[in-house]
Amino acid sequence: MSVHSTSQQQPHASLAQQFNDDEDRVNWHDETLWWIRQKRDKAAWSVPEWEWLRQTASDIKAHVLSNMHDLLTQFEAQALANGAILHWAADAAEHNAIVHRILQENKVQQIVKSKSMLTEECGLNEYLHEHGIDVVDTDLGERIVQLAGETPSHIVLPCIHWKKEEIGELFHQHLHTPKGNADPQYLTGAARIHLREKFLTRKVAITGVNFAIAETGEVVVCTNEGNADMGTHLADVHIACMGIEKLIPQRQHLGVFTRLLARSATGQPITTYTSHFRKPAPGRQLHIVLVDNGRSRQLGRDAFRNSLKCIRCGACMNTCPVYRRSGGHSYKYAISGPIGSILAPNLDMRKHADLPFASTLCGSCTNVCPVKIDIHEQLYQWRQELYKEGLAPKGKAVSMKMAGWLLGKPALYRFAGKAARTVLRLAPFMVKNSLNPWYKQREMPAPPKQSFSEWYAKNKKA
Ligand code: SF4
Repeated sequence: MSVHSTSQQQPHASLAQQFNDDEDRVNWHDETLWWIRQKRDKAAWSVPEWEWLRQTASDIKAHVLSNMHDLLTQFEAQALANGAILHWAADAAEHNAIVHRILQENKVQQIVKSKSMLTEECGLNEYLHEHGIDVVDTDLGERIVQLAGETPSHIVLPCIHWKKEEIGELFHQHLHTPKGNADPQYLTGAARIHLREKFLTRKVAITGVNFAIAETGEVVVCTNEGNADMGTHLADVHIACMGIEKLIPQRQHLGVFTRLLARSATGQPITTYTSHFRKPAPGRQLHIVLVDNGRSRQLGRDAFRNSLKCIRCGACMNTCPVYRRSGGHSYKYAISGPIGSILAPNLDMRKHADLPFASTLCGSCTNVCPVKIDIHEQLYQWRQELYKEGLAPKGKAVSMKMAGWLLGKPALYRFAGKAARTVLRLAPFMVKNSLNPWYKQREMPAPPKQSFSEWYAKNKKA
């Protein structure tokens, strides 16, 4: 396991603390993601109808969520008519078993796989590895984290937490590049040679799906490296794995999303490769695995169903002040950041109860989301749900209860305020001490001489 690996058991705050122990790393992680956020802003401002696109995308996805059954049925009929083989998986275990069965039927032990957050969500790599299948991730960032024995820390930039010198060392160990060579162009060339041999020898290629068009039964895959195309064009069997929310009704709707996706993700005007897979070439197979894995449950949760509009652009992560300073692995879930903190508790409320609290609720995520998901409001809603279920952190639950009680008694509140100001003035160590994490890296401001209501009572006439 590498230095960046994290324990699934530790809470988000502890893992974020570990990430923060390396001050240099957290600083450039923060700055790099903010730079991408700024690129996104410039790209968005260059499109006069940007807000119209966001609203339209959100409306199209709302239509999909309200007509999921009909659109899935239409997609299935069209895809079958095209010659694709369809599989339905209720959960991650079924998804993994289906993929494994296809590999067994084709007597295949080695495969290539392009980026798919769904397969990360389902733990496909680990499952196949346990069953003796060699999976090579072909997205460069994913290959880097795979060689390091890690999972991606960001849905678009899987190895954003790695420095180029560390990648040079990793490639030296695994691909035998010269020690000390950290030139990105050289390392990319070395990865290309390494992956080419895999592409040429693997008979099965797995891809994710960015969009599935109900009208035509085709799936659309967007990459910047062309690795999905290379894998699928050279393999006899293409397995496309998708969550059921990836649907869009018609091909004419695709342009709305492709204009938003790349600009929101990296500030590019368009993803380099946008490939449509409609039917298998003669003598080959196209399998499409449609996965629920909690999506129907989320669809039934009024407060959270809009989270299924997500097109996985990563913009909410790049802008989130908590994500930028805590790193993707601190979320302990395949999809990290603000949207992951909404999706993860849907799958396992108890296990992921800390994630909705890993936010300042500043609303920056909601402002950049290309499909207008009310992200920070859903995080706030999750906190309330978790509190009702008794899963909110104990300290927070007790202090909020006490605060509620005190705020309901104005005279007592005024007295407590006065007492607190006196204590802060005479004995600041009662608040600023090693047991209080808030002041570890902050200066304590001088307490005010009076409360606002006291000031107001004196000055209201003036
Ligand atoms: S929630 Fe919105 S901003 Fe975040 S990844 Fe999904 S589409 Fe992008």
